[in-house]
Amino acid sequence: MASSVLRWVRVVVASLFVAGAPIAVAEYVLGHHALAEARVETRAMAERYLERAEAAIGEGLTLLRDLKNANSVTCTMVDRQAFGSSAFQSTYIQQIGLADPKGTLLCGEPMGSLEQPIRLPAAERGDPSVMVGVLSDGRDDRQTFVLVRVDEARRLVARINRSALEFVTGPDYLSAAQQVAVYLDDGSTWMRRSGTWKPEQEPDSIEETAISTRYPLRVSVTVSALAARQTVAPLRSIILIGSAFLGLMVFGWGAVLVARGANGGDVFTRAVANQEFVPFYQPVFDMFTGEIKGCEVLVRWQRPDGSMVPPGQFLPYAEATGLIRDITTQLMHQTVEDCSALYSRHRGLKLSINLTAMHFVDLRIVDEIREIYETSGIGYEQLCFEVTEQHPLKDLTLSRTIIQRIQALGAQVALDDVGTGHGGLAYLQKLGVDIIKIDKMFIDNISTDHSSQSIVETLVELGNQLGLGIIAEGVERVDQVEHLKGIGVSTAQGYLFAKPLPAAAYLELAHAMLGDGDAGGGADDEAIADDLFAAVDAPDQTDPKAAA
Ligand code: C2E
Ligand code: CA
Ligand code: CA
Repeated sequence: MASSVLRWVRVVVASLFVAGAPIAVAEYVLGHHALAEARVETRAMAERYLERAEAAIGEGLTLLRDLKNANSVTCTMVDRQAFGSSAFQSTYIQQIGLADPKGTLLCGEPMGSLEQPIRLPAAERGDPSVMVGVLSDGRDDRQTFVLVRVDEARRLVARINRSALEFVTGPDYLSAAQQVAVYLDDGSTWMRRSGTWKPEQEPDSIEETAISTRYPLRVSVTVSALAARQTVAPLRSIILIGSAFLGLMVFGWGAVLVARGANGGDVFTRAVANQEFVPFYQPVFDMFTGEIKGCEVLVRWQRPDGSMVPPGQFLPYAEATGLIRDITTQLMHQTVEDCSALYSRHRGLKLSINLTAMHFVDLRIVDEIREIYETSGIGYEQLCFEVTEQHPLKDLTLSRTIIQRIQALGAQVALDDVGTGHGGLAYLQKLGVDIIKIDKMFIDNISTDHSSQSIVETLVELGNQLGLGIIAEGVERVDQVEHLKGIGVSTAQGYLFAKPLPAAAYLELAHAMLGDGDAGGGADDEAIADDLFAAVDAPDQTDPKAAA
């Protein structure tokens, strides 16, 4: 229970990891990429604004120097006309005029006065005769001026057009989330512009600064990192969906593994490793004499909790995985442990072991049989190996060889479930078995159903002609016993006589029936044997549960 919860936890963790890892990596890589991209854009924007600001100042200075050189440095009509036409022809200059050292405009063209004197501490680098300054009304109305010193009393002044820096640059995704500011070195602000977005809204906004090498000028552009990240949103969605899909796949796969583990899978493999498979023994009898002839070994899975799983529930899995080979090996070892004493004492007793198609793909089974039984108390001539007809044998020639090798040891081979499976009579002919086991299916209706009757009779006749032994399986009723005896079948197993028994119960029964006085308790044993054959008249006395 706890381990299954643990397995589910592992599946969930693995799925989350598989889905989460690409998301985290994508988040990191895409985020980084988007931010780096935005940083480059922002830097380019800052440089564009700086270029424009420098161009405006540069144009102002050029015009003023030209006027100074042309000696247009008075407020006379002619000079004012020169101011006006210079300003008119310029790109960024709105007005040109003359100011006194305090900054008061003496005249200006086109006409216009200043509300305040122009105080301009800022100067062009390396030339104190050239100044740049901002005149602010304390609110948002700012004017930027360029000045050139004429003499002690006069300065030429160019007022830069407000619209000089009113342009939009940069990618669309940043247009609504940017702030542009142009500063002079004295701390004054030439221009500051932002939309609804403010850098204060985001702790990790992107800021790039461009500094002029020609003028006391600095541009700062700040953009939203969130807006930058937004550019990779579609890609992120794709990765998100892909990762979720991947995670789901891993989850599904894990769920299948866990489910398999729950009813087979690694639980089953562990059960094989833990040797949880035990042999039960179903006695085989001579119906004429009532003698016990031996038994068939039938596997049971004894779970650690004590429950007993019948073979129908795990054999298909054991066969599909090939684990049946290990299980059969374990069973054979266990039969040596359980039965050696009894079988060495009663050399006439037989022990039948079921093999599957998996055992007929190579010669390993022959070596195993030899290794396990050679030095055991069970002789080869006491062993019989059953080959079922129900699953086709891949390589009939190899199967025939394996059967011959088993027979060469002295053991017998029986064809199980004859008439119900694939092989039919061809198997009988090609495999060279010693015994045929007539399936319960035909025995069930032997006294009532005509076709069952003829099949059994045909099989018996065939067996006799080929010199094969015959065992009837699944005998449950007295009428079946009578019928089988009537057609000369003497050997049978079935619930009427005994169900598959745990080792101790089988040994006790066999000792009793064989009159092993010292192995059990003399008179008691005989009584058990008598009771057993009284069972032919009063069935179901040998319930393995009762026996166990
Ligand atoms: P099977 O080899 O034909 O074995 C006979 C089955 O019939 C056994 O079922 C047995 O308990 C049952 N049986 C015997 N007499 C009666 C009866 O009178 N009435 C009824 N209703 N059933 C009877 P079990 O033990 O459940 O085994 C089922 C099948 O599983 C076996 O059929 C055999 O094919 C396979 N099997 C069992 N043990 C092993 C094993 O160790 N190795 C392999 N390869 N297969 C095994
Ligand atoms: Ca069998
Ligand atoms: Ca059978």
